[in-house]
Order: sequence, then structure tokens, then C-alpha cells
Amino acid sequence: MKTKQLLACLTLAAVSLSAISAEVVVYSARNEQLIKPLFDSYTRDTGVQIKFITGAEGPLLERLKAEGQNSPADVLLTVDAGNLWHAAQQGLLRPLQSKILQDNVPAHLRDPANEWFGLSVRARTLVYNSSRLKPADLSTYEDLADPKWKARLCLRSAKKVYNQSLVAMMITEHGEPKTENIVKGWVSNLATAPFADDTKAMEAVANGQCDVTIVNTYYFGRLMEKSPHLPLAIYWPNQHLGSKHAGVHVNISGAGVTRHAKNPLGGQKLIEWLSSDKAQNLFADNNLEFPVNPKVKPDATLAGWGSFKPNQINVKEAGSLQIQAVKLMDRAGYK
Ligand code: FE
Repeated sequence: MKTKQLLACLTLAAVSLSAISAEVVVYSARNEQLIKPLFDSYTRDTGVQIKFITGAEGPLLERLKAEGQNSPADVLLTVDAGNLWHAAQQGLLRPLQSKILQDNVPAHLRDPANEWFGLSVRARTLVYNSSRLKPADLSTYEDLADPKWKARLCLRSAKKVYNQSLVAMMITEHGEPKTENIVKGWVSNLATAPFADDTKAMEAVANGQCDVTIVNTYYFGRLMEKSPHLPLAIYWPNQHLGSKHAGVHVNISGAGVTRHAKNPLGGQKLIEWLSSDKAQNLFADNNLEFPVNPKVKPDATLAGWGSFKPNQINVKEAGSLQIQAVKLMDRAGYK
């Protein structure tokens, strides 16, 4: 090898080494209490320091956009595929070539263009009043539109991204006209006006205002930790249908490396580590979420709820169909 080439190789090696050991800056919509223990563990493992700021997803995205090339952020960590999809659409993320992430994250829980990757799974499922209903009374999200549920359904507000994502995923399966009829059916079955959050909807089910609602399981887990005697139970809907549309509606929390990252390799290494066996339980269990990595077992509380078949449609549809879903919910009178 000629001296010049050798020098070039050495310089490259030096650059990549320093990129690995340099600090990583994370903008996180997950709160400090959830991410700090993970980052501390990563620093102990690798010697890499992590700086982070936390905030609500909207303002964090706006900040990243406003900072442009001058942003110090290497990694964006947030909840809901809809938010990650928006970040990618706005050109705030960059694609990663990573065999580790391809192996650890199922295809439907990551961006087909590799700009973001799910790191934990959140299931949006049915919770019912166990002193009034039997599991056999329930079957699917769609069935809750049947007139037999008149004045027996409680729902969270349509303004929250979670129900927008659920309806977006239903559009991929049924198309708009049929989904609109289902949502209209839900609205005509409401026992009372939609609630501001999942916990209030479950409390209404527990006190008999209605029989069933649709919530993210971690809210159920938190409520039952606090009030274990409430007559509430989880039901996994859409389990017996044949297509890949069938199954429980799932969403993710996840991450991507920013377009203008100063330490993109360091950011990628961090996201790869978060998807690993070692970090997955720490990442998911603290918030009663499911690991995204199928090789990792969920927390005992979650395992106690039984296993379920998730919907296999790529979660990016929650973003790409969000506007259609919001308009449809509005037409159907879902507030
Ligand atoms: Fe939440």
C-alpha cells in the first residue's frame, strides 16, 4: 500500500473511533425518569456520555426543524409511529443501514425507508367491566359499532393521536366508507361524551357508566397497580380473523438519527443498543410496554395479561393516513 493510501486509511480509522467515543445528544419525548437509567447503563457499558433534553413531541420537532443544520441533536426519541413518520416527512431524520436493527425490530414496526425504528410496543386494546361482561361477549373493535352496545361504550377523545392511529389502521383494512360507518356506530353507542384520557375512560367502565372502552395497556397496568380491586379486565380483539390486518392495534415508541447529526454513528450505536436484549427490558418494562425485540420476554405483569396476535400492517400508515382519519372521525361526529 502506498504511504498516501495508508495515511488516508489511518485518518479514516481515527475519525470513526473518535465518532464512536464522542458524546451523543438525544432529544426525547419520553420523560427523564424513563430514559435516564438506560442512558446511565449505556455510559457504564461503553464510556459514551449522553446528553439529553426532554419535552413534548410537538415542541421538540419544531425545535429540531428550527435549528436545522445547527441542531446539536443526534437522536430523536419519541412515541407514536405517527410522530416519527411526520419527523421523517419533514426531512428531520436520516436512513440507517443496520443489520442489528433489521434483526431486532420486526419489519412492520420500523420505517421501510429505515429512518426510524420501534423500540417498544404499545397495544391499544379493549378493557371491559368484568362484573358485567364475559370475554365471550367481546370480539372485535368493529363489533363495538353494533347496536347491541348502545349506551354501553366509552371512548377517549378523538383529538389524541392514539385513536387517530387506530382509525388510520382501520382505513388500511376496510377503506374509508366502511371505516366511517364503524366510527359512526361507535359514536351512536357512546354512553357519555368522550374522555380526556384513557384512565378516565377506564374509571367510567369500572363505576358502571359503560361496559367497555379502548385503551393502551400501560394505562390499564398503572391503574390496576394503584387500584387492584377495580372490576376491569383486558380483552385482545380481532384475534380470530385471517388476514394480516387482523390482530390487536399496536403502535410504538421509537427513535431515529437526525438529518444533521454531528455524531450519526454514535447515534446509530445507541439505537442499536436500545434494541438489544440487554436494554429492551429496561426500555419497555419501566413504562409497562412490550419489548419490540421478539427474542425478549415482556415484564411479568404484562405476561400475565396473556399473549396476543398484533396487527402486522406497517405502523407508518398511522402517519400517512392520519389526516384522512381525523377528517373521517370529524364527519362521523366523533369529538
Ligand atoms: Fe400515553
